[in-house]
Amino acid sequence: MLLHNWPSAFAHVDCDAFYASCERARRPELRAVPVCVLSNQSAFVIAKTYDAKKLGITTGMSVRDAKKLAPRAVYLTPDFAYYGQMSDQVFSVMRRYSPEVEVYSIDEGFMSMHGLRTLWRKSYAGIADELRAAVRSEVGITISVGIAVTRTLAKMASESRKPDGTTIVPGKAIEAFLAEIPAGDIPGIGGKRCALLGQFKIHTALDFASAPQFRIKRLMGKLGVDLWHELRGVSVFPLELEPKLPKSVARTAAMGEHTSDRTLIGAHLARHVSRLAIELVTKRYLTRRVLYTLRLSKTFDTEGTEVRFRFPTSNYFVMVEAARQALDVLYRPGVSYWGCGVVASDISFAVSITPDLFGLMQYDDQRGRLMLTVDEINRKYGKGTAIMLSSVPLKNPRRASRFRYPMLEVD
Ligand SMILES: [Mg+2]
Repeated sequence: MLLHNWPSAFAHVDCDAFYASCERARRPELRAVPVCVLSNQSAFVIAKTYDAKKLGITTGMSVRDAKKLAPRAVYLTPDFAYYGQMSDQVFSVMRRYSPEVEVYSIDEGFMSMHGLRTLWRKSYAGIADELRAAVRSEVGITISVGIAVTRTLAKMASESRKPDGTTIVPGKAIEAFLAEIPAGDIPGIGGKRCALLGQFKIHTALDFASAPQFRIKRLMGKLGVDLWHELRGVSVFPLELEPKLPKSVARTAAMGEHTSDRTLIGAHLARHVSRLAIELVTKRYLTRRVLYTLRLSKTFDTEGTEVRFRFPTSNYFVMVEAARQALDVLYRPGVSYWGCGVVASDISFAVSITPDLFGLMQYDDQRGRLMLTVDEINRKYGKGTAIMLSSVPLKNPRRASRFRYPMLEVD
């Protein structure tokens, strides 16, 4: 497991607290206060600055809880079109340094470092530091950079020193690096798998990389073996320079109770739409078809109705209005439901359809303006003055406590 030279390497670039940092970049007065960016419905926190994190605010926390911890923090509704422009700027700086750049998400990307030391006459650390400085001065936000022989190691490297860090893991330092990292922090290993690995005394990333291959294969299948190679410095995951579109993007969950309350079901659906919209917008996807589903308590069957949009969209308001119409079709009074969901299909890239980054406002100017208005009212008269009606039932704290979905992490 010792690699002494590494002519080719990957860099992982991760923007620090991206949405919140973008807000600070355009409003310098926010530098002195903790900043949280909220979901479309202003129901929960989707991003926060590091000083907000220090106060105990976590991604996915309800606004109510966050305000208890940080009453003086600034709470903003998101402006994804602007975050997209900022993201483009970060990627254009990256493309100046490397001809091979993969856009992994709105705030994360990979770069091939192959041949770059000769080209720039600099060490990997020198290139990373220069890249960080360029993004800081030109875009106004900080990034963290990790460089290693595989994608997975590069990503773990950038995560190990945030914010505004450069972390280089040369081949000979891999073992020492992995020894410090819990197995659960290996990208692609979630809580369940981590618990399973723990039963086999695999607690650190080094335990994982040192385990016999057959054991990893038995515990985690092909993905496990791929990760095992990547952690051992053997590159398995290439850069994906041509982004692949998913067939569908889904958000479904049980409601935590059996109910025939239409308003409550509608609020759950709106919540799913909000999370779907965030995913579409951050990945720059647009959808033309959304399937809305309800799950029956009695038979556990799923009933659904599909809405086709005239234009590809990622707009929360368009999709939540369609949810209301879908509910008209699906909902039967007196029937008990226990789950619901949304599935977007016919996915395309926002950039390939419209010069407007996300097409957020393009097709739906009226509603786009509505979103801005909500933000402006809140800015003027205080947060929470205007909230989307569809989220009202979830303001009940007793019910809100049931909404513990895994949330988008955008640190
Ligand atoms: Mg990030």
